[in-house]
Parts: sequence; structure tokens; C-alpha cells
Amino acid sequence: MTLGWEDLPKSVSVEGAPTAERLREPVPAVLLECDGGWLLLDTGFNTALIRDLALRRRFHGDPEFTPVLPGPGEPLEEALAGAGIELSAIHAVAVSHLHNDHAGGLKHFAGRVPVHAQRAELEYGLSGSAEPEANDIFRIDFDDPRIDWRLAEGDTEIAPGVTAVLTAGHTPGHQSFVVSLDSRVGGGGFVFAFDAADLSENIEREVSVGTRIGASAEQCAEQIRKLKRIAAQRGYRLVPGHDPVAWPALTAELAGAEV
Ligand SMILES: [Zn+2]
Repeated sequence: MTLGWEDLPKSVSVEGAPTAERLREPVPAVLLECDGGWLLLDTGFNTALIRDLALRRRFHGDPEFTPVLPGPGEPLEEALAGAGIELSAIHAVAVSHLHNDHAGGLKHFAGRVPVHAQRAELEYGLSGSAEPEANDIFRIDFDDPRIDWRLAEGDTEIAPGVTAVLTAGHTPGHQSFVVSLDSRVGGGGFVFAFDAADLSENIEREVSVGTRIGASAEQCAEQIRKLKRIAAQRGYRLVPGHDPVAWPALTAELAGAEV
């Protein structure tokens, strides 16, 4: 699913890219039908922080980064409606990391369903300093005592056939997901990098994303190589998180697939 877009400099996504070059990147989420119910990977923006003028000034005041919402309502509800699924049908959520374009929809799930994340990510987000917000991690999105956190420390199977893989670097507890498909839908699978690799270019050139917290470009490039190895070993497709071409091509392909 695509839960919105963001206009930003390409240098955010590709280390060393020219800042004058701008991209409109999709905001991704993945809905998986697992044994036990629907699992949602990532939740998009917090719409209140974009639509309320005072909140927008505080949280989205940087003119270099412009969030774009797809419609007048909640992007998650609108995208799910397109698939004929109610928000209440989602049984569990996992977030790749706590950046505002991934964790902003957690408000829909507080007090309702388990939320999977890496412990290191939540500890950083709740650390209490001004640094997370300066790094686009908005505590207002996830500091809610009603969220039923399920915190992992490293690689963990979070649902049958779905493994969270720690790919720290973009953020301190970023995780990607390895998804194995049932033989009834043809088998195979996907490795969803999310922000370990924003663009196909990150994967092809093994070049770091442009934004990192406490990690070097080389450490982030190594996470990309790790995901490439997993994908190659299993014969799965490695999907970048924010690619303006690859992401819409994948959603169009899956929307048209016979399952
Ligand atoms: Zn991110």
C-alpha cells in the first residue's frame, strides 16, 4: 500500500547525491495475511501533524521536506478500503522504525493489537533528549502507555513466515522484514528493506541511505549487503522502501495478482 508521498532531496536517500535533485517518494506499508490474521508492516504519517496548522509548523516546518497525503481521510483506512479490509481486521502491527512517515499511524492501534519493534529503537525514541525529534522521530507518534509493545533484540520471527531482521544504522533499531509466501500463492517471498535501502539505486550500488543515526555509511552499506545475501540465498525479491518507480510497480503488480 502507499500511504502518502514525501517531496525531499535525493541526498536523504542516497549518500552523496546532489541536494538540488528532488524526488517524490512513496510512503510504504505492507499488509500480510498470516495464520492468525492480518499483519501490517508500517503505518504512514500521523495526519494530525500535517493537517493541524500549529502541529504542522512544529513537526513539518522544514520546507525541504513536504509530506503529501493521498486523500481527505486517514490514508490507512482509505488504502485498506481499496483492498476491502476494515482497520479492525488487523491483528498485529510491526514498525520498521519510528520515523514519522512509518510510525505516525500507530494511534490507530494503541490499546487494540500487539505492536512489534526493536527494543533499541523504542529506547532511543523515548530517551528523553531533543535528539530523536531533531532526527524526525516524533515521540507524540508512539509514546502511548496503551501501545502493547512486543520488543525484539535482533532477528525474530514475528508471525508464521515473517521474520524481522535487525538492520540498524538508518536508525538505532531499524528492522527489515523477510516474508515467505505460502505455496498456495506460488511460494517464494520478499525481503522488505524499508529504510535500510530507500531506492533501487541503494541496492544496486550498495550505497548507504543519506540519513543515519549513530552509524557510518559503510555500516549502512553492510546492512544492504546483508539483505542482498538473504534475498539471494532464498531466491526472494529485495524491495526498497521508498523508490518512486519500483514501489508503485510492485503495488500495481500485487493488486493485479491472482491469489
Ligand atoms: Zn526512515
